[in-house]
Amino acid sequence: MGEIAQHLREIQERIAQAAVRAGRDPETVRLVAVSKTKPAAAIAEAFACGQIIFGENYVQELVAKQPELPAEICWHFIGNLQSNKVRQIAGKVDLVHSVDRLSLAREIDRQWGALGKVCDILVQVNISREETKGGTSSEELLDLVREVAQLPHLRVKGLMTMPPFFDDPEGARPYFRKLRELADQVRQAAIPGVEMQELSMGMSGDFEAAIEEGATLVRVGSALFGERQYH
Ligand SMILES: *Cc1c(COP(=O)(O)O)cnc(C)c1O
Repeated sequence: MGEIAQHLREIQERIAQAAVRAGRDPETVRLVAVSKTKPAAAIAEAFACGQIIFGENYVQELVAKQPELPAEICWHFIGNLQSNKVRQIAGKVDLVHSVDRLSLAREIDRQWGALGKVCDILVQVNISREETKGGTSSEELLDLVREVAQLPHLRVKGLMTMPPFFDDPEGARPYFRKLRELADQVRQAAIPGVEMQELSMGMSGDFEAAIEEGATLVRVGSALFGERQYH
């Protein structure tokens, strides 16, 4: 068995165990294989082992790799997204995890609308208010969701967050818990057309804690594909 196949099997096993520990059905947690900086061949290898969802951070890289890979792959966009690049990925991704401002939501609405399609999105929340990270503040979340919900070609499916980095995954747990609480608040607001079925949280170092706190999408890169090299 190749390295990616082996890592994939281990990660799936850890996902299932974390779900069971939390009294959850493992089927309610989906793995997003984060393939940024990794070649199409690595993605093809994971896909051959049954991995369906891949997460990319950069528009250029996504549109370059996508045509080389099977059409059955589900692409998620998880990185900071500039409005002027939205057109390049319109209709090409199944979920955008990183919507954090109304101007971006409007552009997604416009571009998907031009194709006669609806884009599923998550609203990214910057709970820790780190300046280097995208995301709306917890305080502004409800207002943003209300406005985004008005857009006809966009459907809010849940929330996403990226906690500060901790060596110990327990450090991230309060942020995961907070995201779940925020989703509960949005749900209670009963905004028409808004669903809170997805919580995108947890990465290689902390996905088990995220699952214990309710994650439905975990975004795992280096634990699956190995360390990234940026050039
Ligand atoms: C790179 C990235 C990940 C994956 O990080 P790993 O630590 O390699 O698992 C997850 N989410 C986002 C938003 C990322 O940019």
